[in-house]
Amino acid sequence: MKIAFIGLGNMGGPMATNLVNSGHNVTVYDLSQDAMNQLKLAGARLATSASQAVENADVVISMLPAGHHVESLYLDPQNGLIHSLSSKTLVIDSSTIDSATAVKVGKALALESISFVDAPVSGGVGGAKAGTLTFIVGGEKQHFLTAKPVLENMGKNIFHAGEVGAGQVAKICNNMLLSVLMAGTSEALQMAIDNGLDPKVMSDIMLQSSGRNWTLELYNPCPGVLEGVPSSNNYQGGFMVDLMRKDLNLAIETAENTHSATPMGKLAQTLYEKHGESGNGQRDFSSVFELFNSTNRLKI
Ligand code: NAD
Repeated sequence: MKIAFIGLGNMGGPMATNLVNSGHNVTVYDLSQDAMNQLKLAGARLATSASQAVENADVVISMLPAGHHVESLYLDPQNGLIHSLSSKTLVIDSSTIDSATAVKVGKALALESISFVDAPVSGGVGGAKAGTLTFIVGGEKQHFLTAKPVLENMGKNIFHAGEVGAGQVAKICNNMLLSVLMAGTSEALQMAIDNGLDPKVMSDIMLQSSGRNWTLELYNPCPGVLEGVPSSNNYQGGFMVDLMRKDLNLAIETAENTHSATPMGKLAQTLYEKHGESGNGQRDFSSVFELFNSTNRLKI
């Protein structure tokens, strides 16, 4: 299959490499020449522009930072790919963006008979490298079925969430819940410590009780409780606070559009804003645990 891949950053670089390693004919484009050179070493063809990359492509995949990058890549009045894509092409946007932009791009492409799915991912850079990402796809069933075998070269679990835009909504609902669980777990563990309990013992108790959740089981935020997680490595690696802030902003924006009540999500957003603004933006999101200690708790 001839695949064009646009956006070769922390996520897109390893994802495109996995497509090359699966035997696809992959042409790539990124604004950064360094990112392109990495993919050349991996065996991809380099294009000099996004429109050159998509020439004769069966599938176009984009992995860009935010909604305005995606909108301008596809819909820019002068250079948008909408002017050069053929109607046989399937467009897969895997960036995490607002669902309204995904719907806007999908509708505009559909008017030109170009298929589009939004397919944001969960699993982070580690999952991108290992090819174990979860893809959450929004789009017509037939387009989902065409995208699935391509996505399986980069991920392990491929879900169909609903129509175009549903992938983005599902992803931010999940991440909003994750932020609430992380903040709640941190709060409970710190209260146990303040009352003289051992956080490891407290974690074991909660893991066998009704407070059990993913953050406790696989991503404990308290240093020293679990080995091999960011909290036991000075919160390096993992999923950055700034990316969680981005996802929470998207979640709250979506909630406002549908008048959904999200008091927990809003509180988590405030906590992550405070934590990020205190110089923690590039640290793992489980570092929010530190916001609850005796030095920082007055900030909350
Ligand atoms: P990144 O900033 O590392 O990479 C983005 C790349 O896009 C850069 O290389 C940049 O040069 C390129 N780019 C920007 N505009 C372009 C354009 N017009 N044409 C070509 N290239 C362009 O970002 P990332 O960490 O790879 O994240 C990409 C997306 O994946 C984001 O939406 C992010 O929210 C989402 N995501 C990231 C993670 C993570 O852990 N990093 C996890 C899940 C989802």
